[in-house]
Amino acid sequence: MSIQTNLKQVKDTLPTNVTLVAVSKTKPVSDLQQAYEAGQRHFGENKIQEMTEKFEQLPQDILWHMIGHVQTNKVKYMAPYVYLIHGVDSLKLLKEINKQALKNNRTINCLLQVFIAQEETKFGLNESELIELLESPELATLKNINIAGLMGMASFTDNQEQIKAEFDFLNQLFNKHKNIKTFNIDFHFLSMGMSGDYQLAVACGSNMVRIGSNIFGSR
Ligand SMILES: *Cc1c(COP(=O)(O)O)cnc(C)c1O
Repeated sequence: MSIQTNLKQVKDTLPTNVTLVAVSKTKPVSDLQQAYEAGQRHFGENKIQEMTEKFEQLPQDILWHMIGHVQTNKVKYMAPYVYLIHGVDSLKLLKEINKQALKNNRTINCLLQVFIAQEETKFGLNESELIELLESPELATLKNINIAGLMGMASFTDNQEQIKAEFDFLNQLFNKHKNIKTFNIDFHFLSMGMSGDYQLAVACGSNMVRIGSNIFGSR
């Protein structure tokens, strides 16, 4: 099936308030171009170098999402153009993003990644670390970032009850903190759900899904 058809099928299952991030990692520029021509504007990548190469070759109105784990020393390469960084899980990384955003005279939107899965390999903050970060006096000094919400990844399992419990937990955290409005904290996005579990994620309150294989085929 074509990318256009896949994209349409995915979009038809999403409520209009849900932002679809087309996860194009490992896929050639021609695939992204096809999705772009079908109207897709939000694209997600997990490697900064690959994202930057694609950014340079594709139309300028694309909104680039960094969905992978970010190393501090690479932030500078995406700072001029990145729209939203999903996987932020430390003050150290936020400080570097702030520094590079300032150099580029812009504000960079970030999501705090929360650890919701049972696996040990996934990155993210736990609830108390999240609260500590949101309340940190140092965060309040970072003028060129905006904390735009939360991101999480459910366990890699067939157990739907467990996945639902993990999404429900993240949604609760999101609702608990979405009323904090400071100059650099303003929750809008709850990024959860991938190809295999996005319908459940949306039912649990997600308003931003990151979908790769359902659109571009398996990697
Ligand atoms: C690869 C990836 C996705 C998309 O995965 P699919 O199963 O192909 O939809 C979503 N989120 C993150 C963080 C990813 O790394």
